[in-house]
Amino acid sequence: MIAVEEALRLVEQRASLGTVITIPTSEALGFTLAETAISKINMPPFRQSAMDGYAVSILEGSTAYTLIGEAKAGDSHSYDLKSGEAVRIFTGAAVPDSADAVIMQEKVNRLSDSNIILEEIPFSNQNIRPLGEQCLQGQEVLFPQTHLNPAALSYLISLGIREVKVYRKPKVAIVVTGSELISINTPYSTGKIYESNSILLKSELNQLGIDEVTILKVEDNYQATEAVLKTALQNDDVVLVSGGISVGDYDFVGKALRALGTEEIFYKIKQKPGKPLFFGKNKDSFVYGLPGNPASALTCFYMYVQPLLKKFMGSKEIHLKRKKLPLSHDYTVKGIRAQFLKAYVDSNDMSVSVMNQQSSAMIAAFIEANAYIFFPEYSTEIKEGALVEVIPL
Ligand code: AMP
Ligand code: MG
Repeated sequence: MIAVEEALRLVEQRASLGTVITIPTSEALGFTLAETAISKINMPPFRQSAMDGYAVSILEGSTAYTLIGEAKAGDSHSYDLKSGEAVRIFTGAAVPDSADAVIMQEKVNRLSDSNIILEEIPFSNQNIRPLGEQCLQGQEVLFPQTHLNPAALSYLISLGIREVKVYRKPKVAIVVTGSELISINTPYSTGKIYESNSILLKSELNQLGIDEVTILKVEDNYQATEAVLKTALQNDDVVLVSGGISVGDYDFVGKALRALGTEEIFYKIKQKPGKPLFFGKNKDSFVYGLPGNPASALTCFYMYVQPLLKKFMGSKEIHLKRKKLPLSHDYTVKGIRAQFLKAYVDSNDMSVSVMNQQSSAMIAAFIEANAYIFFPEYSTEIKEGALVEVIPL
């Protein structure tokens, strides 16, 4: 049995980056960049009007200009303005090389089809976005490990970058064990439990952007467990086993993993909930034996599975962050193990309270919880106002 911090360290130490793939930028949402992205073009690619108005070739001291044409967004034109001439122009349009300034239309009086009067004397480069103002062709614009959010995709596409190199996402198998488990599509019968860990874990994986998820179910039977685990370890990068990892007579996961040649990285952590967590490696695949109780499984997922998945996908920050907040009430910690308690941080981020229903069999507290309170080993009586360690979820 190892301490929480040691287990976290082992996960971090063993976690590795997934391989790099090239995909269309338009499909890269949620991926992490594995290269330095280089702009294909200058941005803007031409001197661009920032206003609807008039582009002028300045005539020193004059406010009267002659209109010789029009430049709309998207037009390619080659007006050759002489001093004192102007073209009607619209936002986003290319400013003729021979124009010095754009005057917004609100500051222009249009006397006729060909004559305008400016309300102010124009100055050079007014309302013109210079060529390459955002970035230049060949410039490094985004760096490895940048998380590709909607703005990043838009930026890359705007710079002509059609494909990106990213870290691939892991294929994950969820292996659900337990002879007591029935599907939600089955009428309830005594002694049975509706199987809910697969939707819990699959949903968490989906929220991390992992969509290649296979769910396998097996009864508490040694041969069947070994066979299913063998398949999962062959096909998937990460195998999440639910249940069957404790010390009961019908818990076969540990024995089956060992029989399949799995390296044990750790088994059992001095924590509550989630003491029987197993973490191992089998050839190129990682495997977690998660306790079957839903709240334990979820805590183990957040603390020990998520960092491995994030690292695989190239994230910089893999562990949940921690901070200190005052406890809003007295609390007596039961037992000597470190504890992850479902908690609620108030909306002003000023204090934190322990929620009801901490049992590892109860998932409901997680619906409202927005944090854990982490009590280290041997915590005892905690007084209201004492600073406690908070792990926002
Ligand atoms: P185990 O870790 O296999 O001993 O499971 C502990 C308890 O967790 C079981 O008795 C069930 O009540 C519950 N449990 C296990 N697996 C699931 C599951 N897939 N869905 C819902 N509850 C589960
Ligand atoms: Mg079981």
